[in-house]
Amino acid sequence: MEKEAVGMETKDLKVELLCLGARVPGLDKGRKAGAGPAAGGMFLFGGTVANVPTQSWFVSQSPYSVDAEDGKYVINRNGERITEVRFPQAKFQDLKTKEGIPYSKIALLHGADCLATTTIQTCTYWNTPERCKFCTIELSLRSGATIAKKKPEQLAEVAAAAKKLDHVTHVTLTTGTTSTPDKGINHLAEVGRAIKEATGLPVHVQFEPPKELSMIDRLYDAVDTVGIHVESFDREVLKEIAPCKVDIPFEQYIKAWKRSVDIFGDTQVSSYVIAGIGESDESILKGSKLLVELGVYPFIVPLRPIPGSMLEKERPPSPDRMRHIYEEVAAILHGNGMSWRKNKAGCVRCRACSALADFE
Ligand code: SF4
Repeated sequence: MEKEAVGMETKDLKVELLCLGARVPGLDKGRKAGAGPAAGGMFLFGGTVANVPTQSWFVSQSPYSVDAEDGKYVINRNGERITEVRFPQAKFQDLKTKEGIPYSKIALLHGADCLATTTIQTCTYWNTPERCKFCTIELSLRSGATIAKKKPEQLAEVAAAAKKLDHVTHVTLTTGTTSTPDKGINHLAEVGRAIKEATGLPVHVQFEPPKELSMIDRLYDAVDTVGIHVESFDREVLKEIAPCKVDIPFEQYIKAWKRSVDIFGDTQVSSYVIAGIGESDESILKGSKLLVELGVYPFIVPLRPIPGSMLEKERPPSPDRMRHIYEEVAAILHGNGMSWRKNKAGCVRCRACSALADFE
């Protein structure tokens, strides 16, 4: 007989898991490195999805664990049962291209139904003091888990299989920043176009604001949504954590966001905002309000100290702090009629790395 779950709202459990992680004895712990919030496992529970840290140092101190129970898995808190959890399995990831490249080296299932990849797995800032301290983009390349540059036709092939076998409904493409003025946008456009031609799936791409705004226009018919990531509104914090980003004037971000909203529409543009790197709540709340007023969705995530990154020894912000931020920003979204549900593709639609959608 199924044991009673301890009363806890799904959104609260998600925040706790994002900030504290979970011990997963005997389970696959998820991808080790890469761009974005790596070193986590995708947890499906209570109608939501969370990308939960499973490998960072602080996970061993988490009150949460995943344990087997009657052929299923459950999340326990200090040994007390909270709820059942499932882990998405992707059949397409077992296939290979004609040349013998495993599909899993080309793209992965993210969240419940999103195909995701880093199209160019190198970054012009990697071997410089400008590198973002939270990033591990080139580590997964070095480990052999992925390939340096994914060709449009390779991604079209993988996307078609992911749609057919695993019912993937949208695609997220990110890129390391290239040394060219387009900052990787040209390749994203080619890949986006190829995926759309092969599958019709909505595509999301992420890039740094280019100096020449017309470069964003090249994405017009190739993708559906874009992410231009400020990471922090506190320029002092940014100087310390992501020096390459502080070299770009904030005005440039605003111009790029505005141009993108003009092209892709309200709520189809987003920005990662990382909490827990030294900023105040005030900076996040004020910055999020500005984004929402521009039509940009603030994708607020707690810091993910990925093993191998320069921030690996840090701790994510407390669940209480994140709950407060999410409640406040959800009210801002409400006040402006913005919701993740309007977004067509990408991290906002996937929502595994942020609990903001769960607080709306
Ligand atoms: S929110 Fe974005 S980075 Fe996180 S799992 Fe989903 S697609 Fe990947």
